[in-house]
Amino acid sequence: MSGPKRPPLEDRSATMLACVRAAGLKLTPQRMAIVRELAADPTHPTAQELFERLRPALPTMSFATVYNTLATLAEAGLCAALSLSPGASRFDPNMRAHYHAVCDRCGMVRDVPAATPAASEPAHAPAISAVPGFQVRAVERIYRGLCADCAREAQKAPPPRRVPGPRPAASPARG
Ligand SMILES: [Zn+2]
Ligand SMILES: [Zn+2]
Repeated sequence: MSGPKRPPLEDRSATMLACVRAAGLKLTPQRMAIVRELAADPTHPTAQELFERLRPALPTMSFATVYNTLATLAEAGLCAALSLSPGASRFDPNMRAHYHAVCDRCGMVRDVPAATPAASEPAHAPAISAVPGFQVRAVERIYRGLCADCAREAQKAPPPRRVPGPRPAASPARG
């Protein structure tokens, strides 16, 4: 139904579907659609985005079904709920160590492969030693900036104002 088949994604959604079932949830066509959509999605969608995307095909599906399915997967460690920017959590089906690139302008999120196989190891060990006894579970790195499209747009028509700096603008002279 949707695009060419890619084995890794099929595996990923199969694992997720097994988890949904193991959590005691019935594998309804709605839940299967939610899982397949998330597993194949590199954009780190919010629950609302997935809901709106799937609603035309599944008009009786509720937002709660989408949210609860995603929450079940996150609890089982099969997807991650990310807070990369203000607003609703984004759901990430990629559970390998990786970083994120986030566009300031359109909110686009993409995966960035971690440079080293063990993201939490050598490079970060000295820094974290500043917090004695802290045990690292994961290292998150976010590259913030502009995606290619937004960078192009910004060159064409720069936004009227940049983010205000820390200093208040000089007040205009009184008349
Ligand atoms: Zn962008
Ligand atoms: Zn990711």
